[in-house]
Amino acid sequence: MNEISCQFLVIGAGPGGYVAAIRAGQLGLDTVVVDDRKPGGTCLNIGCIPSKALIHAADEYFLMKEASEAKAIPGITAGAPSLDWPAVVGWKDGIVNRLNNGVTGLFKKARVKLVEGRARFIDGKTVIVTGETGEQRISAQTVVIATGSEPVELAALPFGGKVISSAEALSLAAPPQRLAVVGGGYIGVELGTAFAKLGSNVTVVEASDEILPLYDADLVKPVRQRLAHLGVAVMTGAKAQGLAGETSDLLVETSDGEERRIPCDTVLVTVGRRPVTEGWGREELVLDMDGPFIRTDETRRTAMRGVYAIGDVAGEPMLAHKAMAEGEMVAEIAAGHRRAFDHRAIPAICFTDPEIVSVGLSPADAKAQGIETTLGRFPFQASGRAMTLSREDGFVRVVARADNHLVLGIQAVGSGVSELSAAFSLALEMGACLEDVAGTIHAHPTLSESFQEAALGALGKALHV
Ligand code: FAD
Ligand code: NAD
Repeated sequence: MNEISCQFLVIGAGPGGYVAAIRAGQLGLDTVVVDDRKPGGTCLNIGCIPSKALIHAADEYFLMKEASEAKAIPGITAGAPSLDWPAVVGWKDGIVNRLNNGVTGLFKKARVKLVEGRARFIDGKTVIVTGETGEQRISAQTVVIATGSEPVELAALPFGGKVISSAEALSLAAPPQRLAVVGGGYIGVELGTAFAKLGSNVTVVEASDEILPLYDADLVKPVRQRLAHLGVAVMTGAKAQGLAGETSDLLVETSDGEERRIPCDTVLVTVGRRPVTEGWGREELVLDMDGPFIRTDETRRTAMRGVYAIGDVAGEPMLAHKAMAEGEMVAEIAAGHRRAFDHRAIPAICFTDPEIVSVGLSPADAKAQGIETTLGRFPFQASGRAMTLSREDGFVRVVARADNHLVLGIQAVGSGVSELSAAFSLALEMGACLEDVAGTIHAHPTLSESFQEAALGALGKALHV
């Protein structure tokens, strides 16, 4: 068996693992990263990137369709758009390929060795990697577990046949005519919206009282209104029971205990993801667990010296940018820097229509912590830029301490607000007060002015509303 040793070994080349490896290589550590898929992990191959490509393609198609029905900007009409689905999927795959190659190139540039295969620990410093060319034994001073997450399967709806996970949904042969989505969270609503825009008849079945239960009712309302406009049926408080034998309709128990049948060609199950903590020899290590996740401290060190865990396997939120931040940090720690995960806020964006952004505390979070707050809210209906973009639904909301005006959280819902997340996060990281945001000149006309206006509103000095 081929044997190699290195200073820094990363298991999994997703956003957590590949960033850790690149940074470690840049810092001069002899680094090896192992993955049996193309580099980029869930996010690049079957997650963030391909889903956002399809969401954008669906947006473009839908805009053209609206124009063809004279529902766009007055004066603009067009012929009915046509959909060459294999070409759309090919375009999406091309983006993924370019980014796979980009990560491989960054590994080369940072002198990181990529080993293709599946890793299995035999002790806290050693793994055996099984790949197409046989087995390799790799030992290291520092090991990073970045094995990510996988979709949760429902016992009543096992994956296979017409029951698919998000991975298959991104590479379907054609948009389904009738799509049932089980789970109205991030993936279900993002992809359900995209398929509705592409012409699918979509039903979302959500077990909670409201879709996107992570966000408060005010933020979800504009998304619900848009789903209704797109003809998406939403069933809340509803539980999927399985497929009916003869018709393979989706069987659903409604909130009032009735059974409903939803005729469908495809059932997309998006009821959450679980960390990948099995199948790589965890039993050979002495790790503490935190529920389904590997327990780590603020440096992402596990219970074993020299063994770190980052990204989806190490806890919520299961988001790519959180994994990347942890990856960069553990590499720097391994190179001797003093670092700790001490971020004030991790932004969350839901790429629905309209988009939702949340950074820091919501009004309810602040209340639960016993903090007295002052709120400012600016509706896009009062924004000149929103009018010129022909989308006036949504708002920006700022949550600040009542006593010293320190900004605690910022939320927004609206078309294109994902790009405001950087300004929101920066304000929180920099410890901005309402006066800082209100006193910053924001360019006109932009959606970002709504952030300034929300801060002015919280100070009782609103100008445009
Ligand atoms: P992963 O990306 O899951 O990577 C883990 C890697 O480890 C995989 O490549 C796997 O092959 C490898 N691996 C596992 N076990 C082994 C082993 N034994 N040996 C070798 N390799 C192994 N997040 C966002 O922030 N924004 C979004 O817009 C977004 N959209 C998403 C859309 C979808 C449809 C999905 C499914 C997820 C989305 N996410 C999004 C979540 C995001 O993909 C994850 O949070 C992120 O990928 C986590 O990164 P990670 O490095 O922890 O793990
Ligand atoms: P999720 O946790 O966002 O949503 C799951 C939904 O399914 C919840 O609303 C839950 O109430 C519902 N549910 C659970 N069991 C159910 C059942 N039996 N029947 C009906 N509904 C049920 O999970 P997801 O959409 O699968 O996404 C997984 C994770 O991936 C997310 O939590 C997030 O961390 C990440 N992600 C992020 C983005 C983004 O950042 N834009 C996009 C996609 C995915």
